[in-house]
Amino acid sequence: GSEGKLQLVHRHIRAFPDFPKKGILFRDICPILKSPAALTAVIDLFEERVRSHHLQVDLIVGLDARGFLFGPLLAQRLGVGFVLVRKKGKLPGPTTCVKYDLEYGTAEAETQEDAVAPGQKVLIIDDLLATGGTLYAACELMKKQQAQIQGCMVIIELKDLNGADRLKPHSVFSLLQY
Ligand code: AMP
Repeated sequence: GSEGKLQLVHRHIRAFPDFPKKGILFRDICPILKSPAALTAVIDLFEERVRSHHLQVDLIVGLDARGFLFGPLLAQRLGVGFVLVRKKGKLPGPTTCVKYDLEYGTAEAETQEDAVAPGQKVLIIDDLLATGGTLYAACELMKKQQAQIQGCMVIIELKDLNGADRLKPHSVFSLLQY
């Protein structure tokens, strides 16, 4: 059942203190990818959330880089396409771009202009929600492309950082909360 799948996923996440710098407890999802059963459980649980919340999804949008690991698998499962939100300068052709704030300085995220048609319903995927800055930028990009955002979905939500508040009014679906 779902509870067993959640436990399986939980057992395949490691914590590394002080990475990439002092004070950050880094949640490493690499063990999930090494385990076919745990990876299947993640996609099963994502799919269950989509179905139980009756989310209508035309496209899965994945964030650079770990959103690329899970997004296409979910898209295949749902029978929909996958599009990439990348760091600036990686995508060819006409692109849509947004700037966003990092802890130090700013970054830019990009999609191809023809990635999403106006009115298409999108679900945005990443591995982890921390401050929500990255997913917020992806939402801004999708708004520029006139997509209908159905929500954001992550494996891990770091509750103390209140990222879900920042993403309102969009819903955040997370499998595990720390
Ligand atoms: P944020 O924009 O603050 O929500 O940060 C989210 C992005 O940074 C995600 O793409 C995560 O992969 C990564 N990230 C932030 N904090 C952590 C953490 N403690 N462990 C692993 N990845 C993290």
